[in-house]
Amino acid sequence: MTAPMVHRGSCLCGGVRYEYSGGFGPFTLCHCSQCRKAQGSAFAAVLPIQAQGFRLVAGEALLKAYESSPGKERVFCGVCGSPLFSRLRALPGVLRLRAGSLDTPVEQAPAMHIFAASKASWDTIADGLPQHAERPAPQQ
Ligand SMILES: [Zn+2]
Ligand SMILES: [Zn+2]
Repeated sequence: MTAPMVHRGSCLCGGVRYEYSGGFGPFTLCHCSQCRKAQGSAFAAVLPIQAQGFRLVAGEALLKAYESSPGKERVFCGVCGSPLFSRLRALPGVLRLRAGSLDTPVEQAPAMHIFAASKASWDTIADGLPQHAERPAPQQ
């Protein structure tokens, strides 16, 4: 085991910058229609992180949050629109980081596709990872 590195990330305009030290949960590619719209792309690349290890270095005042479904907020930069993370009111200890906002490399590979039944008609999932039609049951 090596000491966990400090990860760094930022939005497109650079106004928001953050650091994270801690582990990642299962790296999940979400194809649900809300994630597709929020990213403007085929899926959201989501790394669950511990909220206590996440620290905003700059740009807290730039953050905007959109409650896309009751109790679920999607947080993004109000200047450039970059999605940064989402959070569930019911799970305050966890943030779901958008992996594309990281500036440091991630050693972990994606683990699965979720909401694959909602994928874009033009999208072909061809990487051999497990595909779940919706969200798999939480692991105990
Ligand atoms: Zn920005
Ligand atoms: Zn989603």
